[in-house]
Amino acid sequence: NARKRRIHNLMAQRLDDRTMDLLKSIGAAGDELGLNLYVVGGFVRDLLLQRTVDDIDIVVEGDGIAFARYVAEKLNCRVNTHKKFGTAVVIVSEQIKVDVASARLEYYDFPAALPIVEKSSIKRDLARRDFTINTLALSLNADTFGTLIDYFGATRDLKDKTIRTIHNLSFVEDPTRIFRAIKFANRFGFDIGKVTANLIRNAIKVDCFKNLSGLRVLSELKQIFSEEDPIPAIRSMTDYGLEKVIHPRLEITPATYQILESANKTLTWHDLLYVQETYPRWAVYFMVLLHRCTFKVSEQICDRLMIPVGERQLLLETRYKAENRLGFIESNHPVSRQKLYWALINFNTVFVLYMMALTKNEAVRRDISNFYTQFRHVTPKIRGKDLIRIGVTPGPAFTKILNEVRNAKLDGHLDTREKEMDFAIKYARENNMI
Ligand code: ATP
Repeated sequence: NARKRRIHNLMAQRLDDRTMDLLKSIGAAGDELGLNLYVVGGFVRDLLLQRTVDDIDIVVEGDGIAFARYVAEKLNCRVNTHKKFGTAVVIVSEQIKVDVASARLEYYDFPAALPIVEKSSIKRDLARRDFTINTLALSLNADTFGTLIDYFGATRDLKDKTIRTIHNLSFVEDPTRIFRAIKFANRFGFDIGKVTANLIRNAIKVDCFKNLSGLRVLSELKQIFSEEDPIPAIRSMTDYGLEKVIHPRLEITPATYQILESANKTLTWHDLLYVQETYPRWAVYFMVLLHRCTFKVSEQICDRLMIPVGERQLLLETRYKAENRLGFIESNHPVSRQKLYWALINFNTVFVLYMMALTKNEAVRRDISNFYTQFRHVTPKIRGKDLIRIGVTPGPAFTKILNEVRNAKLDGHLDTREKEMDFAIKYARENNMI
């Protein structure tokens, strides 16, 4: 049976006023419709761990979609519904979204299939979750507001810093949970419980991944590689031999770990300087793992993980181009700012960071970082219309002149518009363009 205790003081301490008010109005909406409802999962777990909470996941004992519509009307905001799964998202604002689910019993047709959904009560809903630490529910109805409900020993496991499944067939039922166990253990600095670790080993032994869609593995891998420091999770994956599930010929060696460490440093450096910029962090780590694979194995990994065409092109062709380009810079080092600029300008953040992670040459790394922070932004102040004014015919001559202006700027000349103009006129005359 459930252990219950009130944690409204902790809520008041940890949550901002907006979140508290939102939870209270959601609870009030439940009372108005005569429905029990709870905030569940990661939100409650992170609240108890005193970490920053993000997504609000609500479970309603009843029709979640009707409830979500009612809340959206009350708060005057948008709602998206997914009838098939009995779920909805209330879009409170750009930043705040509330996921609403109907308490339900999920079962699986056969191991590794997508779940089939039926309506049921909160305990059953929590019982289908991956780990005990994700099974907490927090009541939102006014008379029980802030009551923590723990059916499966979640508070004990949070205290023991342990990841445990709820039942022994958990990984056979859904093998992606193996990746999730590793992700949570790494993120919170928890251990995977002994029994749970044995269940993971057994599930891998019986080849539970056979029927698992590559898309689901990819989604879990992306999540692991998006964590602040994914390296301990990657180590843990290799301890269980999970890299062989991705591809039998994928080897993660001490040399790979060296590059991963270097990627970590590079990404930390970048993210401190460019706090606002978002880019697919996961792709840098993923490319490091693919780095030593042959093209054929890399292709097979992309096939297995059902990586979509666009991303596949980046991870294969563009990655090889970036590696070759880095090779060129390393073997011609020191290279001029001009050469470096034209060698790197067509690669986006992910590939520039990948090259910085790969190189073992400190001076090359410094040059690439200077390119990224400083001179990739060098652009002529003069424009096409200035060239028309001096009599150049629009066409290839424009690009040629503007590139020459850019080159001169990269060399540190032409710090004013006037100097650029003089340079352009002189260049155009010398090359019979005017
Ligand atoms: P994060 O902070 O990474 O978002 P989360 O706990 O919110 O962590 P989600 O992946 O958003 O994780 O999942 C929401 C909830 O759904 C989890 O708390 C978990 O209980 C449940 N869940 C997600 N994936 C599975 C799964 N494969 N099997 C069982 N339950 C799952």
